[in-house]
Amino acid sequence: SSVPAGSLLRGLNPEQYEAVTLPHVPALILAGAGSGKTRVLTTRIAWLLQTGQMSPGGVMAVTFTNKAAKEMLTRLSAMLPVNVRGMWIGTFHGLCNRFLRAHWKVAGLPQAFQILDSSDQLSAVKRVIKGMNLDEERFVPKQVSWFIAGAKEDGKRPGDVAIHDGQTQKLVEIYQAYEDQCQREGVVDFAELMLRTYELMRDNAPLREHYQRRFGHILVDEFQDTNRLQYAWLKMFAGPQCSVLAVGDDDQSIYAFRGAQVGNMADFEREFRVQHIIKLERNYRSCGNILDAANHLIGHNSRRLGKNLRTEAGPGEPVRVQESASDYSEAQWILEEAQQLHRQGMARREIAILYRSNAQSRVIESALFNAGIPYRVYGGLRFFERAEVKHALAYLRLIENCNDDTSYLRVVNFPTRGIGARTLEQLQDAARSSGRSLWQSVGAVGGKGGGNLVAFNQLIDSMRNETRGLTLREIIEVMLQRSGLVDFYRTEKEGADRIENLEELVNAAEAFVTQEGFGKDAVALPVDELAPGSMAEGLPRAVAAVDLKPDAETGEIMSPLAAFLTHAALEAGDNQAQAGQDAIQLMTVHSAKGLEFDAVFITGLEEGLFPHENSANEPDGLEEERRLMYVAITRARQRLYLSFSQTRMLHGQTRYHIKSRFFDELPETALKWLTPRTQGFGSGFARDYQAAWQRGSGLQSMVGAGQQPYRTPAPPPPMPTRSPTEVGGQRFKAGMSVFHTKFGEGVIVTLEGSGTEARAQVNFGRHGPKWLALSVAKLTIVE
Ligand code: ATP
Ligand code: MG
Repeated sequence: SSVPAGSLLRGLNPEQYEAVTLPHVPALILAGAGSGKTRVLTTRIAWLLQTGQMSPGGVMAVTFTNKAAKEMLTRLSAMLPVNVRGMWIGTFHGLCNRFLRAHWKVAGLPQAFQILDSSDQLSAVKRVIKGMNLDEERFVPKQVSWFIAGAKEDGKRPGDVAIHDGQTQKLVEIYQAYEDQCQREGVVDFAELMLRTYELMRDNAPLREHYQRRFGHILVDEFQDTNRLQYAWLKMFAGPQCSVLAVGDDDQSIYAFRGAQVGNMADFEREFRVQHIIKLERNYRSCGNILDAANHLIGHNSRRLGKNLRTEAGPGEPVRVQESASDYSEAQWILEEAQQLHRQGMARREIAILYRSNAQSRVIESALFNAGIPYRVYGGLRFFERAEVKHALAYLRLIENCNDDTSYLRVVNFPTRGIGARTLEQLQDAARSSGRSLWQSVGAVGGKGGGNLVAFNQLIDSMRNETRGLTLREIIEVMLQRSGLVDFYRTEKEGADRIENLEELVNAAEAFVTQEGFGKDAVALPVDELAPGSMAEGLPRAVAAVDLKPDAETGEIMSPLAAFLTHAALEAGDNQAQAGQDAIQLMTVHSAKGLEFDAVFITGLEEGLFPHENSANEPDGLEEERRLMYVAITRARQRLYLSFSQTRMLHGQTRYHIKSRFFDELPETALKWLTPRTQGFGSGFARDYQAAWQRGSGLQSMVGAGQQPYRTPAPPPPMPTRSPTEVGGQRFKAGMSVFHTKFGEGVIVTLEGSGTEARAQVNFGRHGPKWLALSVAKLTIVE
């Protein structure tokens, strides 16, 4: 029934072969994009199982995204007839969730603990700040939640944070109050999943020894993006007998902003006494021109470990470059080009449209939508984050765990039930002073509001009773009716869409149960691992009992509802109904990591956008942006398109952009410009713009015209950055270095208007980008 080990190894090049068949020792694969790192990792798992060196339960593999984990499981089951469901393959968060589901009791969590996604977390933080009567201006909720996540990622509980000023003191108090609140409500945020698991492993010796004995092999993909806590976490699971294989590419480290440490690679090498560092230098993914572009670009970074990549594929198609007048025409061009590829036989799912920021997807989405072309968006506002879906999930979570205050507050008066702000304040005060959940505190509120609260609790109770024993689908249907959500949206103006999404939720649940077999990640340890004779045998009882409490009637370890709610919090929430459809793939560059497509469009290659304005001003930031660009380029197999636009609607305003500096870092020989490379003053475009400007239909009429700019005929092409702006006898041009008496030296990114109206956006090193009125700012041109 099984494939001979030899055929698993067929086709590997010598270095890959070596890596796959390494002896039982720690090793590091350090290699560039598309060189087969992930393939080696997957093949090694298959080889270990195949040759009987390891049982499925003894392997842990960590990947970065759910999509990558899924892909690994698919590849593995294609290679081997193993039951991959019992295997510990997943993201850090997915594996932590699995661990904590199994050990909830020793971890100090309720069995039905729920996971807060980032928006839930933010609202929880807001509630804490409000409860402490603090000023949201001084303690900006977003920054507070970054502070908390940052502390957790450093492995620090409130007591461990060094306090050096009053502000930190208060932040730590908020952190503490937030923790208490989460604990009371039985919820954990993403960072908590990691930290809780880490601490439990650190402090519970029998448990740690169990897992360290269990995992003979730990394999980590995308190692360059692990943060400190993740690295410490890995060390906890890797016992003295464990062979750890770390796989990474320093040039693809793109999460430094979230605390990822490339330094982990060096630490790993030292701490694990790595004897084998394997380099893979042949790229199997991309054609020559694409690879040239990637190599050239990344060559501009200074801090690199240094790697080579070559291909034996021919040069292939040139990298095509397109300049558009607006983001709208950029989107039109993309969709026409994509359609063309599709007509030539390329599957739509093999075409990816990448962007630096989520906000860019809307225009592209609406172009695709209007043209009736199927597409699929990853990331962004995830399906499970849409307001109506979150409302529905909140009801479901309350059915599962009525102490979940976040969910309680979200729907207690939605749809309206005559529960006003004052009533809720009383309720929250009562809960706070008694240290209980909102649910438990309704008795403390009197009057009509109090009565309505009691009625709400009864509604949830009755939903729980009515849905007992029903299928997941039926549970959701009952909830949608009894909660009044469907009726509410029926009366709403734009309710039809929302009802559709609620129906989609039912589909998602259905797909979750049937396709996935529920709870791939969510289910606790498979029962057979705990059976006598299994790996858990011989463990101290406290551990072996791993707190599994199967349902008395069904024997289920976890209800489908609980599993589904976990899935909703952890998964990307892709529209399940569309999962099988051949659709164009839209995603940010970050979420494209590790993936590959026949054709890739990198859009919005403009200064300020890519490289992003927040990063472009500091060398570290710029190098990270460049690595991001390197990741983007190396996703493409056959076709690569680079595109930029002169104007773009962002944050409700038309902004004028110049093309990304990355174009100057690409080899001209690999590129093909689809639009004439108009440069400088006097191009046809610039003249048109000037004319439009003089007619008074230039910039001013465009700014703020914004609400529906895409239905009107193409606006006059504004192109202010092309022509020099003359002020005080100086001719300013975009790209020029200038000096400001207060901000120092900077580079002009954008110029707008003329005469006394002339403005420039200038990027100053330490001070960042600023808009300046040229007649006032007294800039001098730096020669
Ligand atoms: P990234 O850094 O982008 O994650 P990677 O190093 O993980 O890339 P893979 O995704 O494993 O690279 O491989 C890239 C592509 O090359 C895949 O399609 C893979 O199947 C193919 N490939 C890898 N090795 C070989 C080989 N020896 N023969 C044929 N194809 C290969
Ligand atoms: Mg990979």
